[in-house]
Amino acid sequence: MLDSFEREIIYLRLSITDRCNLRCRYCMPDEGVPPTAHDDLLRYEELLRVAKAAVSLGIDRFKVTGGEPLVRRGCTDFIRHLKALPGVHQVTLTTNGLLLPPLLDELCAAKLDGVNISLDTLDNAQYQQLTRRTHTADEVLDAVRPCAARLPTKVNAVLLPETADQLIPLAELAQTLPVDVRFIERMPLGTVQTGQATTAAAALDRLRVRWPQLKPISEPRGNGPARYFRAPELMGCLGLIDAVSHGFCDRCNRLRLTSTGLLKPCLCYEQGVELRPLLRDGVDDTTLRDAIRAAILQKPAAHCFSQQENITEHKSMNQIGG
Ligand code: SAM
Ligand code: SF4
Repeated sequence: MLDSFEREIIYLRLSITDRCNLRCRYCMPDEGVPPTAHDDLLRYEELLRVAKAAVSLGIDRFKVTGGEPLVRRGCTDFIRHLKALPGVHQVTLTTNGLLLPPLLDELCAAKLDGVNISLDTLDNAQYQQLTRRTHTADEVLDAVRPCAARLPTKVNAVLLPETADQLIPLAELAQTLPVDVRFIERMPLGTVQTGQATTAAAALDRLRVRWPQLKPISEPRGNGPARYFRAPELMGCLGLIDAVSHGFCDRCNRLRLTSTGLLKPCLCYEQGVELRPLLRDGVDDTTLRDAIRAAILQKPAAHCFSQQENITEHKSMNQIGG
């Protein structure tokens, strides 16, 4: 359906947990977040009911996210059921990759359409510093390789000043593997504990020096706001997401559901529609659909990342789902 600004809303990010096996500095406080009581999380049946109601409003693409979605038991079964819902066109997953390899068979069998793997640096020591845990970038690469052989795979890196020297090595993954590599501006949400943010435009300038034939692609790719570029030497595309510096809100097509059931019209405002009480009160499908419609109609014209004093969202990214 169209929102109040004539944007067609077709995409819903479903966060299935706020827990994570990492503590990325730009995403999550060191101490984690106060644990959500299991009963406060939407159950998989409830998530599927929301998805069904969303489909009836024209939303047919879903991203399963978190926290780290693969830490929640039953995630692959959930994906299978979600993908099997009539009218669901696409289901993709966003993960840090660490738990992915042993689940790949099940995810392929579930007909998952693609995977985004987050990796901000190839340097193991820096990876540990950024994620505040002892896992390594090599472990993530050990997930990227088999995943890319079986499913459409994107590597996502947040642009950070401390990883500036990683821009080209990360982008070169698109030269050696059939993956898209995308660079995302760091958004000023939650407990950001990294240096001054870097712009996508500055990253693009550097990518153009490395690949002088880099050209924007004209055909649509993905559901989001990334701008994609191709060069003859690259197997995959390079993508830039100017989340902060460039306004792409006029093309925004999405809603976000937190793991506790808040349906959020926009990343940077805390406003949303609480679906959990409705689901637990046993409301009928029409009432649930009306609640989703209300969230779509609440979508503001644009985010306010450039006027940080106007940001009302205080949750950290792992609680929102990215
Ligand atoms: N744990 C999974 C992962 O890391 O892919 C899924 C959840 S994570 C919140 C989803 C995405 O949000 C990741 O690609 C992560 O890098 C990104 N993210 C988290 N905090 C961010 C921030 N402050 N600015 C930009 N992207 C952020
Ligand atoms: Fe966890 Fe993903 Fe946040 Fe990193 S970005 S702390 S992996 S939820």
